[in-house]
Amino acid sequence: MLKGKTALITGSTSGIGLGIAKALAQQGANIMLNGFGDIEGPKAEIAALGVQVDYHGADMSQPADIEAMMQQAAKRFGRVDILVNNAGIQHVARIENFPVERWDAIIAINLSSAFHATRLALPAMKAANWGRIINVASVHGLVGSAEKSAYVAAKHGVVGLTKVTALENATTGVTCNAICPGWVLTPLVQKQVDAKAEALKISNAEATKLLLGEKEPSMQFTSPEELGALAVFFCSAAGNNVRGAAWNMDGGWAAQ
Ligand code: NAD
Repeated sequence: MLKGKTALITGSTSGIGLGIAKALAQQGANIMLNGFGDIEGPKAEIAALGVQVDYHGADMSQPADIEAMMQQAAKRFGRVDILVNNAGIQHVARIENFPVERWDAIIAINLSSAFHATRLALPAMKAANWGRIINVASVHGLVGSAEKSAYVAAKHGVVGLTKVTALENATTGVTCNAICPGWVLTPLVQKQVDAKAEALKISNAEATKLLLGEKEPSMQFTSPEELGALAVFFCSAAGNNVRGAAWNMDGGWAAQ
């Protein structure tokens, strides 16, 4: 379905980003990876799906890095047809104790990076009259949780940016939508499970049950594969007129 298209997924060396990259590659899209940590493993996983794969190590908190990444993608593949703004970090603390440097980093990586990548991707998408921008927000783009001020502010911002991007391009073939996952068991969430187990002196399994029980009625994690399937839907012909949606996959979290 996506043969001949190129997808750039930020923060795709692990977790949700890698899951979405694999789902798009399974549909035939060439893939531009980004993120830190192990690069060769994810590159090999994507190449095994029979598509072309490239990587850029842009630090998504740095606008100049983002520009260099977009240029490399254009040079290698012609243009970016599908942009998935996914890179994100978390920090948990009450507002009065929240480190100012963590606030700035979360706003830069979780919110401003999506603005920069979007503004740089749009001209070529509009020229081709086809494009898909998928912002990985969070259920925290729809509701708040204590001790996550920067994350919740950034993710609400991403949902707002999604609506404006969709509206500004509503008469074109370029759509923009947000995905709002609840808990997904990735390294980002494992750290929160570990912190709970440590603080309450309970096992990892008990901490996981507590974490789900506090917020997610289904008592189940959403998987990167399920999120990848939603991204594929947004890229499909059936997604042509889905514009500015913030689609939660959260086991009922935001329905409460
Ligand atoms: P993860 O920690 O597994 O992956 C994060 C990715 O972002 C990694 O590839 C990492 O290298 C990359 N990254 C971090 N800082 C970066 C930077 N400065 N520049 C470039 N890349 C950087 O986390 P995840 O859970 O897969 O999260 C992915 C996205 O999904 C985030 O935006 C997160 O907020 C969102 N999300 C996650 C959950 C969840 O439960 N895990 C729920 C809702 C939303």
